[in-house]
Amino acid sequence: MSGISAEVRMKVLLLGGTGEARHLADLLALDPGVEVVSSLAGRTLEARLPTGEVRQGGFGGVEGLISWLSLHQIDAVVDATHPFAATMTTHATTACHHLNLPHLVLRRPGWTEAEGDRWHRTPTPEAAANLLPTLGTRALLTTGRQGLSAFAPAGVWMLARCVDAPSPVPTWCELLLDRGPYELEGELELMRKWRIDVLVTKDSGGDMTSAKLTAARQLRVPVVVIERPPLPADVTVVSHVDQVAEWLREHR
Ligand code: NAP
Repeated sequence: MSGISAEVRMKVLLLGGTGEARHLADLLALDPGVEVVSSLAGRTLEARLPTGEVRQGGFGGVEGLISWLSLHQIDAVVDATHPFAATMTTHATTACHHLNLPHLVLRRPGWTEAEGDRWHRTPTPEAAANLLPTLGTRALLTTGRQGLSAFAPAGVWMLARCVDAPSPVPTWCELLLDRGPYELEGELELMRKWRIDVLVTKDSGGDMTSAKLTAARQLRVPVVVIERPPLPADVTVVSHVDQVAEWLREHR
């Protein structure tokens, strides 16, 4: 934003739905030069709301987002969505390019394999489902309710852990509704109780859901890791919330 005076606040759309986005909203609430509107898709029941102004629900595709950004006189967009929210990230990239708005993606690093891990990386849930019968007979699915149906034909016993129940409720697996936080002891207990011999996860990254990977390593359970969708070309990406605050200072 050019020629901004100390009194004029920079208006930022913060695309959220993650722990980092909430953390960022907390941090930016302390900055008098920034006005933040957090945006949630609005599909999670009892979502954890970020500090400050929040809007919920889709924008109506790229066109809807362009209109919304213009109407609300947004100066910059920070995309702190989940690494697998690829549609939202693509829409935000296209809309910001169209309006020539500063745009930053906050993306936590993916997980890396440690000694003792037995990971199998796959590009899609369908590929993960195909691999399952070669690795185990009792799977814990932690990929969320979206895309769960890809596992229906896998032909092994499955326990699917989701924050909210999928609709329709699947009949081909056991369902466990849990939103975490997930600690190592709990993950070990869960895997032992259900005699899990293969774990399926997205490469979400971060600390909030990584205890299952440590539990799998300790129990010598193989892990199918679904790889992240690629980011659009030419986006500016940072991995920590402090870098976002710095980037915003540079764009005032
Ligand atoms: P997605 O597939 O990329 O987006 C589908 C549509 O949902 C978008 O086109 C947009 O609708 C709407 N949308 C998504 N994120 C939004 C946001 N922050 N604010 C307003 N509208 C949003 O996204 P998703 O994978 O369904 O994820 C939805 C939300 O859940 C995101 O906020 C994400 O951060 C969070 N989340 C996702 C995952 C995951 O594994 N995918 C995990 C944890 C949290 P319109 O086209 O109508 O604008």
